[in-house]
Amino acid sequence: MTVIVVSNRVARAKSDEPVAGGLAAALIPMIKDSGAIWIGSSGQVGDAAQTKDSFAKIEALGTGALVTVDMPAKHYRGYYEGFANSALWPALHSRADLIQVMADDYTSYREINAFMARALLRFTGPEAVFWIQDYHFLTLGAEMRQLQIGRPIGFFLHTPWADRRTMNAVPHHADLVRAMLSYDLIGFQTDEDRQNFEDYLQFELGLMVVDGTVASASGMTHIATFPIGIDVDEFTARATRAATRPEVSRLRASLQGAKLVLGVDRLDYSKGLANRMRAFDRMLDVEPQLKRAVSLLQVAVPSRGNIRAYRELKSELAALVGEVNGRHGEVDWIPIRYLNKAFSQLTLAGFYRVAHVGLVTPLHDGMNLVAKEYVAAQNPFDPGVLVLSSFAGAAKQLDAALLVNPHDIDGMARQIAAALAMSLDERRERWHRMVGKLRASSVRNWFSEFLRTLANVRRMPSRLAPPRPATASVVVDLARAQRH
Ligand code: UDP
Repeated sequence: MTVIVVSNRVARAKSDEPVAGGLAAALIPMIKDSGAIWIGSSGQVGDAAQTKDSFAKIEALGTGALVTVDMPAKHYRGYYEGFANSALWPALHSRADLIQVMADDYTSYREINAFMARALLRFTGPEAVFWIQDYHFLTLGAEMRQLQIGRPIGFFLHTPWADRRTMNAVPHHADLVRAMLSYDLIGFQTDEDRQNFEDYLQFELGLMVVDGTVASASGMTHIATFPIGIDVDEFTARATRAATRPEVSRLRASLQGAKLVLGVDRLDYSKGLANRMRAFDRMLDVEPQLKRAVSLLQVAVPSRGNIRAYRELKSELAALVGEVNGRHGEVDWIPIRYLNKAFSQLTLAGFYRVAHVGLVTPLHDGMNLVAKEYVAAQNPFDPGVLVLSSFAGAAKQLDAALLVNPHDIDGMARQIAAALAMSLDERRERWHRMVGKLRASSVRNWFSEFLRTLANVRRMPSRLAPPRPATASVVVDLARAQRH
């Protein structure tokens, strides 16, 4: 079987560079080890992208390969900044109030999905199994079926799936969900997301899911939950290795015995950053003895800066940090260290280990790998405490964290203070429970379990149109790429 993974962007594996989010963090090691081919946008657009020879590059990634495609210039913006990130992303994260799209954006979304389907034609060999990733490509499977690609196609959603009233706010929602039923398998991060999707099918489309399978005009689709994980040992090893890195040593030295609370997020409205800072502020108001004894380091990596909601959030947070620091700060101490830049996962692992408290308080999040990485990076003999939003997918597994409601500022302030004061025995006991769960649900399990299920789902004969043979030149190129 040749596994072909498709996502909006691919990522490389340089250990000294940041990764661009949870999807990339999970897929890089899996592609490296499994020999799969990972296809995505090159980040370049051009009119030449309309032609069939538009592959920008094929390169090796461990035993696997990366294939990057130039996207059609005319539609990329409407697809990416428009429909995907200004309609689907806000709705999937329960922020229908932030949806802002034009009719052309939906056209562009469909065009890019159709373009990617055409690009995949040359990979439909007799052994091919396709695994499409995330909300950028809800309709890719339907486009592939149109092109008579009859091979198994799975889909995994890295974000939440919101309740059906919220999803109704997405223009063309019913078309999108009907198109998703061309997939043989649809995977969600949590049972709640899967249930929301099944409710949508039942109440909006009149389709019942029986024993995890729904029958529609497009065939049979299996629906299941596959919580994404991390490689615990890899993160533990990184945390040890990173201890002597200059940035980690400087951070530790700068604390001068004070405790560190750490947040690491993309600068996204789903991450609950403003409420988190308000909670920290509130804690210093209520417990003034903690001043100078603790600092919050918030890494907020700029993201999707061409979209207004993100620019506005950036300004709001900058003003809020200034206000809190201005009010509580001293000549030789500031409460919030706020950084708009990214770090490598190696450096992050070192930061996680230095931090006494990991603060992960999204308003709604598919999984949140930072929460899992924080736990994996702790010193087992003296672990820090995870304060985790109950609205992160990770909370379903990491219920031994201090769970908080990210809308409740006072509640969060109390839990951060409780984390700072927690006894060593309790910290160890909670950490052992969490790390056990992380080991039982690793990223390797996620990858193999999804593909095993996809291989076993019952498929409608009508989907099994004869595939076109793969183009010989690509096969040759891939062979060359693997040798490097
Ligand atoms: N990350 C990174 N450098 C940074 C910030 C984050 O490499 O400066 C990585 C982090 O290690 C994690 C991923 O980006 O693996 C973020 O994934 P998560 O699921 O927490 O959130 P997402 O960005 O996908 O919403």
